[in-house]
Amino acid sequence: MAAGLLSGKAALVTGASRGIGRAIALQLADAGAAVALVARDIGKLEDLARRLDSTGTKTVYNSFDLALEDSINNLVDWLREKDFHVDILVNNAGIYGTDSIAMEEYCGWDSGAKSSLSLWNKTLAVNLSAAFGLARLLAPQMVEKRWGRIINISSISGQKAEVFGTAYSASKFGLIGVTQSLALELARHGVTVNSVCPGWVATDMAEEQINDPEWCRLNDINPEESLDIARLSVPQMRLIQPDEVASLVGYLCTDSARGITGQAINICGGLSIT
Ligand code: NAP
Repeated sequence: MAAGLLSGKAALVTGASRGIGRAIALQLADAGAAVALVARDIGKLEDLARRLDSTGTKTVYNSFDLALEDSINNLVDWLREKDFHVDILVNNAGIYGTDSIAMEEYCGWDSGAKSSLSLWNKTLAVNLSAAFGLARLLAPQMVEKRWGRIINISSISGQKAEVFGTAYSASKFGLIGVTQSLALELARHGVTVNSVCPGWVATDMAEEQINDPEWCRLNDINPEESLDIARLSVPQMRLIQPDEVASLVGYLCTDSARGITGQAINICGGLSIT
């Protein structure tokens, strides 16, 4: 992204400690935005903040567990204390957990998969409720300025169901619903709301899923071949890199993208059309 394209803007990126969120924070900062970094791992946030500070980016960071309802209000209060007025909200924090209801309950097969309601509740809390909660509290200040961007990192699994990932799929489908609904509500106020839907991206999340013995067993995949199977399922035969997703997010933040709202934009190497 061209330097200075987002100067004067302030962005909150959730899940900024690693993976896609970290790449997004770096790109938005490169384009001149001030950034607020949020995740649980304070050490990783501190490292990134130090790197950004050294380039002159205004950076604030703090640890919040977005699975906890109180965190949403606390995060917004903290931003207020820091005098950090969010123009760009990137709801990126997310978790994936393998789940299976049928194998264990009906077939007597102890899959060992975490098909618990607690996984369901936690997945919806982090991936969906936190995104809505932050949009609800931060959109009014964007409306006041008549400029804002809300970008929700959904997934191809938010459009095409993911087997043994019911909670994850539900949360990502839900995020696209939230995106469309808020896009309609905010359309006349200079605020765009979009979902970005990655396919396989080379991050810890993908690596953990691909290497999860339960995921391999449920999908009847030999763990040794798991990475190749994931890779070869993509028409481009590769995993997307985090900075590719970040570039798309960066573009959606620019004024050139002001006409794009309510969309779910895939970045998946062609996976969505297989
Ligand atoms: P990742 O490497 O696992 O990073 C997830 C980020 O979310 C981390 O910064 C993590 O930070 C944060 N996070 C997780 N639980 C949290 C919690 N309870 N409270 C606050 N922050 C939390 O995953 P990623 O691949 O970068 O994923 C980023 C987004 O892209 C997610 O929404 C994911 O669903 C989506 N996505 C990923 C892929 C893929 O293939 N990788 C594909 C489609 C969509 P801490 O651990 O420090 O809290």
